[in-house]
Amino acid sequence: MAASSCAACIPSVNWTRTAASSIRSIPHALFSVIFPADCRLCATPLDRWTRVPVCQTCLTAPEPLEAEHFCTLCRTPFTNQHPLDANGVCAACRGNRRGFDHASSFGFYSGPLRGLIHLFKYAGMSPLATPLGHLLERALPVDTAFDAVVAVPLHWRKKWQRGFNQADLLARHIARRRQVPLLNVLRRRKSAGVQASLSVAARRLNVSGAFALRPSSDLKGKRILLIDDVMTTGATASACAAALKRGGATSVSLLTLARVDRRWTDQQ
Ligand SMILES: [Zn+2]
Ligand SMILES: [Zn+2]
Repeated sequence: MAASSCAACIPSVNWTRTAASSIRSIPHALFSVIFPADCRLCATPLDRWTRVPVCQTCLTAPEPLEAEHFCTLCRTPFTNQHPLDANGVCAACRGNRRGFDHASSFGFYSGPLRGLIHLFKYAGMSPLATPLGHLLERALPVDTAFDAVVAVPLHWRKKWQRGFNQADLLARHIARRRQVPLLNVLRRRKSAGVQASLSVAARRLNVSGAFALRPSSDLKGKRILLIDDVMTTGATASACAAALKRGGATSVSLLTLARVDRRWTDQQ
C-alpha cells in the first residue's frame, strides 16, 4: 500500500486551508525581512503591513516651523528683530545675496522630521516621498503662484549611488497635486563634496557654477517653484535659482521640507 493512501499516515489537518494560509503569509514574511516589523524611528511594533516602516505617531510628529521673528522673504528665523528692516527683510535678502525670491520650509531639520528625512535619503525608503510630500504641501504658502516645478538636482554619481533624487520625488508629488509640469531643466555639473562642514561664504563659493541649464530649456516668463529636501544656508538653492533666471525665469520660490536652525551659530 502506498504511503500517501494510508489513512493512519494522514493527520487530521485541513491541508487545503494550511496551504492557503502559508501562501498568504509569504508576502508579509518577505516584507518583514525587508522592513522589520518595528517603527524605524521609535521601535514601536507596527500593527499592520506598510510600505513605510514608520508608525503613525512618528509620521505625524514633525511640527511646523516656529520662531519669534522671521524674514518675510526667505523665512529665515531670528532670535530678535534687529537683523530685520522695517519691512521685516533680512540682510541677505536686502543685499540680493539670495538667488531666489521667496523661501518656505515645513519645519526645522531636527527631531522626527530629521529622522524621517534620513530614512528617506540614506536608507533608500523612497515610499516616504508621499507622507513627506504632504508635509511639503502644507508648507507652501497659499499666495505662491508658480507655472512649473523644478527639483534641485543631484550630481549623477550621487543619484546613481542612492538610486533616486529625493528632491525629484518630492517635486513630482507637488507637480501632480497642483497639476503643473515638472521640468527637468537643471544639471549638477560638480559634486558638492563636504558641503555640510563649510561656512556660509565657503558654501556659496563651493556651489557657484555647480548648476547648468540643460540645452533648449526655455523658461521665459515662467514662475518656478524650486524644491529641495533641506535648506542649510540657501547657497545651493541660490545657485539653482541663478541658473533658472539665466534661462528666463521671472521668479523662483524655494520650498523645502526642513531648514537647519542656525540661530545659535550665526546670530550671536
Ligand atoms: Zn514610531
Ligand atoms: Zn531674508
